[in-house]
Amino acid sequence: MTESTRNADVLIIGGGLSGTMLAVQLLRLPGARRILVIEPRAELGRGEAYSAVELGHTLNGNAARMSVDPDNADDLTQWLTDYIDAGGWPESAQQSVPISELFPPRGIFGLYAQQRLAEAKARSASSVEHVRGEVVDLQLDGASTLLTLDNGQSLRGALAVLATGMFPAARTAQTEPNGLNAAAVDPWDVAAMTRIDPHAPVLIIGSGLTMVDAVVSLEQAGHRGPIEVFFAARPAAPCAPATAGLGGFSRRRPPPAQPPAIAARSAPAMPQCASAGHRLASAVGHRACAHWPVVEPGQRA
Ligand SMILES: Cc1cc2nc3c(=O)[nH]c(=O)nc-3n(C[C@H](O)[C@H](O)[C@H](O)COP(=O)(O)OP(=O)(O)OC[C@H]3O[C@@H](n4cnc5c(N)ncnc54)[C@H](O)[C@@H]3O)c2cc1C
Repeated sequence: MTESTRNADVLIIGGGLSGTMLAVQLLRLPGARRILVIEPRAELGRGEAYSAVELGHTLNGNAARMSVDPDNADDLTQWLTDYIDAGGWPESAQQSVPISELFPPRGIFGLYAQQRLAEAKARSASSVEHVRGEVVDLQLDGASTLLTLDNGQSLRGALAVLATGMFPAARTAQTEPNGLNAAAVDPWDVAAMTRIDPHAPVLIIGSGLTMVDAVVSLEQAGHRGPIEVFFAARPAAPCAPATAGLGGFSRRRPPPAQPPAIAARSAPAMPQCASAGHRLASAVGHRACAHWPVVEPGQRA
């Protein structure tokens, strides 16, 4: 052990949503523990998903399904009610549904997770500290775990938890025409999309939730041309039942509404996407959805 090695009871590797919520649960336990969360991002609780800055980049579940509190399925709805009452997310007033049925922007969800962490810290005898850095080595050493960070720092913990999530999406935007006679851009980069001719055809390869984000980003960037969506098999996001998908953090509640009810409220013009759910319907609308019914199996990429 070097002189600079810091000790903790629990080391949490990765401070995205899972690592942060684990810290909240540990803070709620009786006793006093020292918890270090190692995360290269500037803020805990966000990760790739909840670092989104576009209001149109929303959760795939409504507030009633996305509580981070296993003891309170209404936790996000209650937090969101207070947040909106305090003047946050004024655009939500344009949607005439109860707060529990709103699909919050992912960036606002990240704020919710951060506030729940701050509240748990304030009430606990335990401590949580964000150690900025990336873990590059892990050694099991007797009864403890030794971590090495990219800045050379060493951390030793009685327990270590891997909460590193999925690998981040490749962000190497291709801005020059390539063999496909196209320029590839980051699906979440609205600034990059403003450089696309607003009337040029855009091809999106993949029909999952990132496709929805990409269509929202194109709309925000002023694009009004045709959008083609290629998918490998059936289109996953639009035609999956509203009860499927990534799911919420609380499994106690049933889905808030049956697919036809959602479709009738938000997408009367596209019955072929009746099971798409509110988020896809409001985000994609007629621009991309119109393509799905006409793509024959032989045309699918
Ligand atoms: C664009 C996008 C949208 C999504 N939308 C939704 C949604 O609407 N609803 C839903 O339920 N799920 C959604 N997801 C899935 C989402 O990733 C999970 O819900 C949740 O964020 C996973 O939490 P996690 O903590 O496991 O991973 P993450 O939140 O990704 O956190 C992992 C963290 O580990 C850190 N890390 C990685 N390697 C190291 C290392 N070596 N050392 C230190 N830190 C490290 C990363 O920096 C990251 O912050 C979405 C995912 C993406 C990418």
